[in-house]
Amino acid sequence: MKGKIGIPRGMMYYELYPEWEGYFRSLNFDLITSPRTNKEILDIGIFTCVDEACLPVKIFHGHVDYLKDKVDYIFIPKITSLCKGEYNCPKILGLPDMIKHSIGNLPPVIDTEFQSYKRSSIKRAYNEIGKSLECNSSSISKAYRKALDTKDKYIDRLEAEILSNRKDIESTKLNLLILGHPYVIFDEFLNMGILNKLIDNKVNIVFPEDVEEKDVLYYSNLLPKRMFWTEGRRIVGSAFSLIDKQKIDGIIYLSSFGCGLDSVFTYIISRKAKERNIPIMELTLDEQTGEAGFNTRLEAYLDMMKWRNKNENYLSSLR
Ligand code: SF4
Repeated sequence: MKGKIGIPRGMMYYELYPEWEGYFRSLNFDLITSPRTNKEILDIGIFTCVDEACLPVKIFHGHVDYLKDKVDYIFIPKITSLCKGEYNCPKILGLPDMIKHSIGNLPPVIDTEFQSYKRSSIKRAYNEIGKSLECNSSSISKAYRKALDTKDKYIDRLEAEILSNRKDIESTKLNLLILGHPYVIFDEFLNMGILNKLIDNKVNIVFPEDVEEKDVLYYSNLLPKRMFWTEGRRIVGSAFSLIDKQKIDGIIYLSSFGCGLDSVFTYIISRKAKERNIPIMELTLDEQTGEAGFNTRLEAYLDMMKWRNKNENYLSSLR
């Protein structure tokens, strides 16, 4: 092995990890991923990060801090965009700079910029990384092809893992769409295990990724203005599609306190849901969110949904 590369388990990790794994393993590097988020990682993240940041960014700081003494390099790419004409949240773009500013004694940070929809940009970025790691051109080209050949969608893997928990549980007819950024939906510590709580309540969980890309595109294009955040297109497009086709009974939106994007998406989706009389609940998460209050709101929402499904179909959809 040529050295250890640290991959913090947060933010874009939830979407792009298989591609990164394919690349670095092909170059013969050892990959060290930080563990699932826990109390210690959260506390260090809060301590090291600026107060104004959202909870996922604070948690990301905790993951970097966990790795910093255990690896030779830390991989925190600057991923500006995933699709043409669309961008990521500024906090994702600025992540490497925030980390370098807030956490001391870091090993070298690989913070290459990616515009992930452009083959030329991806190739240039992987070339740059390979050269900085003193790899030769032929092994860099091979690793680049390996990264791009990785068709595995990591979110599909995470969904399957979660849903395998429910195989022995007889499900009800309650179909709930769970909305939010992947790094919120799939970080069990951050979201207080909401997916397992829903499974225990025999809910059929529907994820934004269950909606086909062509439907996401079609429905997000119905907005009067083009959505220029990729995450927004996916969240709003999938919600509109499922609401319009009446495939869901309700929606739970997991938002992060201080997230400007979430405040826009919840507003747009709430209006659409209200038109179709679909109840939507927004659960806002930050480091102060208490689990007891969170559980109470969730239980009240589920009780209302079960009662509504059984007895009435005309209850108010207001939260
Ligand atoms: S989109 Fe929202 S939750 Fe995600 S990094 Fe930006 S501010 Fe934080």
